[in-house]
Amino acid sequence: MPEGDTIHAAARRVGAALVGKEIVSIEAPQPRHALDRWPDRLAGRPVQSVDAHGKHLFLRFGGNLTLHSHLRMGGMWGVYEQGRRWSRSPRRAWLVIRTPEHEIVEFDGPVLELMTESRTRFDLRLAALGPDILATELDEHRFLVRLREDDPTRGIGDALLDQRNIAGIGNVWKSEGCFDAGIDPWRKLAHTSDDEALRVLHGTRARMQESVSRGGHIRGPRVYDRAGRQCPRCNSRIRARGQGDDNRTTYWCPACQR
Ligand SMILES: [Zn+2]
Repeated sequence: MPEGDTIHAAARRVGAALVGKEIVSIEAPQPRHALDRWPDRLAGRPVQSVDAHGKHLFLRFGGNLTLHSHLRMGGMWGVYEQGRRWSRSPRRAWLVIRTPEHEIVEFDGPVLELMTESRTRFDLRLAALGPDILATELDEHRFLVRLREDDPTRGIGDALLDQRNIAGIGNVWKSEGCFDAGIDPWRKLAHTSDDEALRVLHGTRARMQESVSRGGHIRGPRVYDRAGRQCPRCNSRIRARGQGDDNRTTYWCPACQR
C-alpha cells in the first residue's frame, strides 16, 4: 500500500510535470466518472499546485477546483514523456492528463473526486486527518493531543496507523518507526511517554523524508517483512503478528524493543 512518502514523491513528480504547463486534455476513462464532465469543468484551468497530506494527493486547479485522490491498496501515479509506454494497462487508468510533454496517469485509484476548494477544508474525512508526518512544519502538539484522546489501552504501533493521529504512516513505517526508536509496538499508549512517542515520530519522519528524496522508495527495511530473520541491532529473531482491529501485520524484535 502506498504510504505518505510514496504519495509526497508522486506529488513532486506530478507537480513538476503539470504546474504552469498547458493542459492539452483531461480524461477520466472509468465508467463511474462518465457523467462527471470533468473534461468540461476543468477545460482551460491551469494546475496551480500539487500537494499531499498523508496518503491523500490534491491537484489544485484554477477557479477553486481540486481533484482529490487516494490510492487505497494498489494504486499509483505515473508520469510519462509523450509516446512512452505506460507501466500499467490503459484499462487501469482512472485519470489521464496530457500536456505537450507528458502524460500524467493515475492507475487503480478508486478514490478520485472533484471538489471545490472550500469543500476540501470542510470535508469531514479530510478534516479528521491528523497532522501530516511529512509536512514542512511538523505539528507535534496536535499529534500528541490526538494521541492522548485515543484509547490508552491501544498499542503504539496500532495508534500510529490511525490517520486521525498522524497522517501518512502505513504498515511499513509503523513497524520501521517503532524499531528505530527501540519501542515495542505493542506497548500501550498509557505506558508510552510524550518523549517516546515523539522519538518514534521524528525517527520515522526522517526516514520517510529520505525515501521521498529517493522518489518514494524505502531503502533496506530493518524489520518490515523480515519475520524469522536476524534483528540488525541485536541478532535476535524478528517476529510478525497481526495487530489492531484490522489485524495489520506488525514486525518487531521482542529482544531490543521495549
Ligand atoms: Zn533486536
